[in-house]
Amino acid sequence: MRRNRRVKIVATLGPASNSPEVIERLFAAGVDMFRLNMSHSRPPHDAAKAAYQAIRTAEARFSRPIGVLCDLQGPKFRVGEIGGGRAELFKDQIFRFDQIESEGSAQRAFLPHPQIFEAIEPGHTLLIDDGKIRMQVMDRKPGVIDAKVIVPGPILSRKGVSMPDTVLPIDPLTEKDKADLDFALRLGVDWVALSFVQRGEDVRAARKIIGDRAAIMSKIEKPSAISDLDDVIAASDALMVARGDLGVEMPIERVPLLQKEITRKCRAAGKPVVVATQMLESMISSPVPTRAEVSDVATAVFDGADAVMLSAESAAGQFPIEAVSMMDRIAIEAERDPMYTPLVHATQTPPLATGADAIAAATHAVASTLNLAAIACYTATGSTALRVARERPNLPVVVLTPVLSTARRLAVAWGLHCVLTKDPDDQADMVRKACEIAAREEFCKPGEGIVITAGVPLGSPGTTNMIRIARLDARGAPVAL
Ligand code: PGA
Ligand code: MN
Repeated sequence: MRRNRRVKIVATLGPASNSPEVIERLFAAGVDMFRLNMSHSRPPHDAAKAAYQAIRTAEARFSRPIGVLCDLQGPKFRVGEIGGGRAELFKDQIFRFDQIESEGSAQRAFLPHPQIFEAIEPGHTLLIDDGKIRMQVMDRKPGVIDAKVIVPGPILSRKGVSMPDTVLPIDPLTEKDKADLDFALRLGVDWVALSFVQRGEDVRAARKIIGDRAAIMSKIEKPSAISDLDDVIAASDALMVARGDLGVEMPIERVPLLQKEITRKCRAAGKPVVVATQMLESMISSPVPTRAEVSDVATAVFDGADAVMLSAESAAGQFPIEAVSMMDRIAIEAERDPMYTPLVHATQTPPLATGADAIAAATHAVASTLNLAAIACYTATGSTALRVARERPNLPVVVLTPVLSTARRLAVAWGLHCVLTKDPDDQADMVRKACEIAAREEFCKPGEGIVITAGVPLGSPGTTNMIRIARLDARGAPVAL
């Protein structure tokens, strides 16, 4: 089974989609990677466990590798309880946050995060409930923050608190994150997403714990991550443009520009980039999206993003399957447009001075000069395949790997169709296998040719150094050129 698009689809699982039947239908409709959202999961994580097993069952049933992303909640701050559940705040009043563990009122609330009291400064902005209430810090004393209400509204129990100007001296992994991470790594997830990353160092700290058990995706949703963007990209395996919190922490009108900047920089670095949040938001309760949402998905496709993501649409909405089919159709249509290739290549990704990049560039050149049907790429770690994808070649890329975790991780990467296969015995076997698999997976017909990249000696990671050209004869038998 093959997809008819290059961009990938990530779908979040939740109450609307956790069942094995829905997971299977979501995959059939187009999902390449599933996201387990730990913000809504508590030990013993029964729903997440069952969903994971169902994904692996679907994987076996369809004989296609599927990626699983575990998204850690990260340091999300909340106010304490408010008496009666809510209190009305007024413009220009002073509101106090303190460390007294009692019900709040229209004058004060408990803020159960001592680190905030250490780091926040007068003049900093403090936002409640996704930015619905905006305050400015006037004064900070031990255990007390006094803030003036700039944009008023009702304050509700346990609502989120954001401090876009404040760099917090906190461990990017909370105690809950560490426990969830341990659970997820035992489960066998392919990717871990880190929420509210502030700097490249946060990612390196997480890597110390994760090692190579999973790849790391950094969610860009803090101004400090934007300030340290190059280093965050360098330290990560992939990025997510987490537009929800990003639009709270930054002026919302900057989100489109940041999306383009992050996408461009990730593509230049050859790291997958996922565009997320509210892509088809209205489909939570409607079978048809708005025109603006359709246009938003198409924009991410034209920017050359690796993947587009569904959140509540697939996790909690009424139309999860329809939302995936809709994304699939929007992507296919956008990629069919004659302007697609020039638009995607408007972002330049010149090869770096490495063997892998030289091979990737040469593969692209050979394939277009000879008008070949597909690129076949033998890889163990996946790094060569990512360098090939970085070029955004306009023909299919079939990735051949003996490493299951590589095939699953690459599920999120632009244009890569991964097939699990044993390492070839010798060079003749390598050509034969690549031709047979490309034909079987419907990327190459009798009479058509492919270009193959591999590392010799075969089976040694990190040695991609060879290009072969092969074709299928009129009866479909492989012929090495
Ligand atoms: P979330 O992250 O859904 O975990 O909040 C995505 C975002 O903020 O856009
Ligand atoms: Mn977020």
